[in-house]
Amino acid sequence: MPEKLIFADADFDYHTSRFVLFGVPYDRTSSFRYGSRMAPNEIRKASYNFEAYSMNDDVDLKTVGMHDAGDIDCEANLEGVHASVMDVVSSVIGDARLPLMLGGEHSITAPAVSAMGPLGDIGVIVLDAHMDLRDEYLGERWGHACTSRRVVETTGVERYVSIGIRSASKEETEFAAREDLHFYTVDDVRSMGVSRILSECFEHIEVDRIYLSVDMDVLDPSFAPAVGNPEPFGLTSSEVRDFIRALSPHLVGFDLVEVAPEYDCGETALLAASLLRGLVSARCSERAGSR
Ligand code: MN
Ligand code: MN
Repeated sequence: MPEKLIFADADFDYHTSRFVLFGVPYDRTSSFRYGSRMAPNEIRKASYNFEAYSMNDDVDLKTVGMHDAGDIDCEANLEGVHASVMDVVSSVIGDARLPLMLGGEHSITAPAVSAMGPLGDIGVIVLDAHMDLRDEYLGERWGHACTSRRVVETTGVERYVSIGIRSASKEETEFAAREDLHFYTVDDVRSMGVSRILSECFEHIEVDRIYLSVDMDVLDPSFAPAVGNPEPFGLTSSEVRDFIRALSPHLVGFDLVEVAPEYDCGETALLAASLLRGLVSARCSERAGSR
């Protein structure tokens, strides 16, 4: 392992990279289990478990141009951290690279999506057990439980879909119904399958440039026990992998959030690292429709 901990095979320098990975070790709006500030480095460590070569995609991750830019300084308050997220995402997309953001908790998605403004119309797809549509939670409008509400205010309901939902407050359910917000439950995923849901998503969103946010609690806790707010009856690791891989070629931005590493023996960070590596290899693969 190199001296400075970086994600495996992300040792290209910024100027020659296609993918820019960075961590946001921030968890101060968490509401049940803290510790997602440890996730970026735990996911980096876990990434060394895997082969650089993807047999699925016939892609060698050593050659694809990943740069690990390290972590954003999260000493500031929420506003300051969100401002830094916006700055980093703006410059990465300004340089025509794909930002891959590792949380931290889910509040960081809203500023990342705001930073996508210069790209024009984009769609946002969120994989999450929770709606995250509260207007405020514990007196905070920009916390993790409000992140999708802030995103929808940026994109409009016509460019937003969430998948894997199985928990919401009455207020959020009413908001979703009133605004005709598109979301799919876990049961919808089971009955429709990943590809039918994604074709409906593209029909709804009408643009094929997508920001994808993966809240790891979308997974069933048997696959990802170490998350901030575990919610039983979730998606399988294969379903989440299939969503990420199918969306990969369309992505303009990506984040993976809410891993709280202390709550398992490392398997959630391993899964997170593997999902991220699958995203990158799927995007670089020349095998059409590879799985
Ligand atoms: Mn969330
Ligand atoms: Mn969640």
